[in-house]
Amino acid sequence: MTETILDKSLYRFDEREPSYWEATVTRPAERILQSTVSTEVAIIGGGFTGSSAALHLARDYGIGAVVLDAGSIGWGASGRNGGFVNIPASKLSVAQLVRRFGLEETKRFFAASVEASKLPKALAEEEGFDIKPQGRGWYTVAHHPNRMPKLRDYADRLQNHFQVPCRILEADEFRSTVHNGTEAFGGLHMDVGHALHPLSYCLGIAGAAERRGAELYSSSPVVKWEREGSRHRLVTAGGTVLADRVIVATNGYTSDRLHPSIAGRILPAISNILVTRPLSREELAGQNWLSESPIINTRTLVYYYRLLPDRRILFGARGDVSGNVQSMEKIRQRMSSEFARIFPTLRSVSFDYFWRGVVALSQKLTPSLGQFEEEPSVYYALGYQANGVATAPYAGKLVAKAIGERQRVSAPLPMAGLPARFLIPTARPAALAAAYTWYRFTDWYQDRKA
Ligand SMILES: Cc1cc2nc3c(=O)[nH]c(=O)nc-3n(C[C@H](O)[C@H](O)[C@H](O)COP(=O)(O)OP(=O)(O)OC[C@H]3O[C@@H](n4cnc5c(N)ncnc54)[C@H](O)[C@@H]3O)c2cc1C
Repeated sequence: MTETILDKSLYRFDEREPSYWEATVTRPAERILQSTVSTEVAIIGGGFTGSSAALHLARDYGIGAVVLDAGSIGWGASGRNGGFVNIPASKLSVAQLVRRFGLEETKRFFAASVEASKLPKALAEEEGFDIKPQGRGWYTVAHHPNRMPKLRDYADRLQNHFQVPCRILEADEFRSTVHNGTEAFGGLHMDVGHALHPLSYCLGIAGAAERRGAELYSSSPVVKWEREGSRHRLVTAGGTVLADRVIVATNGYTSDRLHPSIAGRILPAISNILVTRPLSREELAGQNWLSESPIINTRTLVYYYRLLPDRRILFGARGDVSGNVQSMEKIRQRMSSEFARIFPTLRSVSFDYFWRGVVALSQKLTPSLGQFEEEPSVYYALGYQANGVATAPYAGKLVAKAIGERQRVSAPLPMAGLPARFLIPTARPAALAAAYTWYRFTDWYQDRKA
């Protein structure tokens, strides 16, 4: 069940991504499912969502859970993202959220997002693992002076309507306290979240789930899903799981063949990361790079970057729609020249790592949590709009709560329910390509205005 619409090179479940995170973590021994096991809850996907659901089911409700991942635990986006704990997981503006879901539900959404951003440190402390946290809060940097009015307006709404602590930095303050790259015309600091080591975080949650009694299996792709009376039979490459309930936690790696209720609803998109060699203190001083907090710029097609613990810079971007080798090379080159343009004193610095992964966008533009209407024993939590470090483990927790307390999934309206199915699912890459062209044009056009 791994048929997908992106290039096959993105689905090599038997290979680990050559990322900085994989290079700086010690993975525990893995188990592969090789027998028939029976459980209350089977979870498809061993990333943040699946591992967190398993931990909360086992720890908070004493409910047995079996997690199945096609690759290693944390093989997907959870083990290869930027490690930005930032909010909200939404591609809608505040005004759009309020129009679509109402003020009260938008308030609930922001309150839940703030709560989600506290989960990494809370879980690390409760369960005794290291997430290697860095920085305090995160920045949106105005890559052009004309983006500052919008940031000011956003800060005002966040503070006054949604009680999200944040403040505006004018260009001088940003350049003297964060960095002085060529695209630093002021910014917004949201005092929520931080940076972390995402693979350490994911393995930390998974390890805690295992200690609490959950069973986690790697290299165990679900290849067949059948009903057996009221139960579900999930067949993997080497074994079978019989379960009363199933949680779909496959996010951007969701195959259209996994379950008809989710088919054609997720838009997988590639995100790419470059990491420099370790920089000297003098090299960082050249760009007055002082902050360990994550930074995202104001482009529609954003660049995101942060300092790593060993003074490397991580630089991320989207823009590749197919994922084949040629387009991967093209985006890698574009990213390295954009890095050199934005941080000119670092232009001759080499990169030690490049990797990529798949995020889940959808027409809903906000996350999707719930139960399939036609099959209420199947739960889903996915579609984090490229923003799941805070939200995915929180979503896993909410789904576990629903199962543990025998209620429907209770989430703020922006996070509830399935996204609409794409009219022509096979045209998703073309639709994304068209959207990226439009975003590049609007970014270029806006940049030309005074
Ligand atoms: C390069 C990159 C950078 C990112 N940066 C950030 C960031 O800085 N901040 C942020 O908030 N978000 C970021 N994201 C998004 C974030 O990583 C995701 O939203 C989040 O990890 C989703 O977690 P998940 O557990 O739902 O999905 P995933 O971690 O993707 O896990 C899904 C799992 O399902 C498994 N699977 C799929 N099909 C099957 C099957 N049939 N059987 C068994 N297993 C299956 C896959 O192997 C995979 O491991 C980034 C993503 C990428 C790719």
